[in-house]
Amino acid sequence: MSESPARPPSWQVCLRCGRELPLSFTKSRCPACSALLEARHRPPESRGPGLRDLFAARRGSGESLDASGVWRYRELVLPDAGSGVVTHPEGNTPLLFLSPVSRWTGIAELALKHEGHNPTGSFKDRGMTVGVTVAKRIGARAVACASTGNTSASLAAYAALAEIPALVFVPAGQVAAGKLAQTLAYGARTLLVRGDFDACFALAREASEKLNVYLLNSVNPYRLEGQKTILFEALEQLGWEPPDWIALPAGNLGNTSAFGNALREARELGLISRVPRLAAVQAEGANPFARGFREGFTRRHRVKAETAATAIRIGDPASHDRAVHAIRTTNGVVTDVTDDEILEAKAVVDASGAGCEPASAASVAGVKKLVAQGVIRPGERVVAILTGHILKDPGLLLRYHQEVDPAPPRANRPVEIEPALSAVEEVLGGEP
Ligand SMILES: *Cc1c(COP(=O)(O)O)cnc(C)c1O
Ligand SMILES: [Zn+2]
Repeated sequence: MSESPARPPSWQVCLRCGRELPLSFTKSRCPACSALLEARHRPPESRGPGLRDLFAARRGSGESLDASGVWRYRELVLPDAGSGVVTHPEGNTPLLFLSPVSRWTGIAELALKHEGHNPTGSFKDRGMTVGVTVAKRIGARAVACASTGNTSASLAAYAALAEIPALVFVPAGQVAAGKLAQTLAYGARTLLVRGDFDACFALAREASEKLNVYLLNSVNPYRLEGQKTILFEALEQLGWEPPDWIALPAGNLGNTSAFGNALREARELGLISRVPRLAAVQAEGANPFARGFREGFTRRHRVKAETAATAIRIGDPASHDRAVHAIRTTNGVVTDVTDDEILEAKAVVDASGAGCEPASAASVAGVKKLVAQGVIRPGERVVAILTGHILKDPGLLLRYHQEVDPAPPRANRPVEIEPALSAVEEVLGGEP
């Protein structure tokens, strides 16, 4: 493809037929072959150590864009980002090394990248700051998404910052309390759809095409550009010394796809010298991608999804094809874990002091399972992504810790007492 001097800083390209479209093209699929689109940018001026130094220098800068863990990497996200950026700021999430979680998984060098530390409590903010910035730039009259909860909370917050009306489609009765509460409070028009996530998504897509609202599901290429920075930031925190594995929960497969792109770009630009392997982890009751992996991706599965980890309760993942590419190009694996395994992993992460929402714990449960299977070796270095905050799903937590019959293995049951010191002494059993 020839580089014309008039080429804009960013454009979109069809993943199947290669057709190029401008940034302002608002449909999420190629008009020629209806495959998904991907964002492309002019290449950065520096590479390798020069680019690393540029990113590092911004950490101490007082400029508002540099305060964001997304926009600090803007050459790889949206290079001509300027004053119109809609930012909280987001990112700058910690990399945690917690012995109880290391011991439980059997990985001595396990780092948890905690994306629950984002402004609305999930990694979705990293994509949404970019998606809403583009929506504002192209003058969208409204933005919309279908969501299992976190995307809607994030869209609602960023649309409010940008003063653009937001419309969200969520499955009625299936959204965790924290997520629904946030969405309502940030002021999005919230539609409780009598159907599952997959039904919400089909409806949001149809509405966006017919009613001229900008669709901000993860099929939107600019969301994925922002989500790549989870890995840029984690790699930078590791001194650009890549781990052997990166484990993440996999639902709609936007993040899996974004991670594949991030690792390819980091390698091509000389930021890292070796590509870590991706381990995408699904819930057993919502495992179309894991089923496909076991068959060498010879066909695409669709399932009726059911799991307590609502953020990954998705039966027909939108970013399926590009996620297959991400797994293949990173020599990755896909596995699935039961809800009991997810809840046990979550209890371990919670009791370590970090805490996370149920879907996040799938990555940790997946690491333990892959270690037990001999796929990940105990001496390897692993980064597991915690995708969301512990308070996203208080209902599940209160049930888990207060359930009686039978009490879950790691339940921390509260004790109700009379207001008397003797009752306290009785509970403590004479211990000081
Ligand atoms: C969205 C989300 C996921 C799933 O990510 P995909 O990109 O849809 O695969 C996992 N965990 C949490 C907390 C999420 O919000
Ligand atoms: Zn095409």
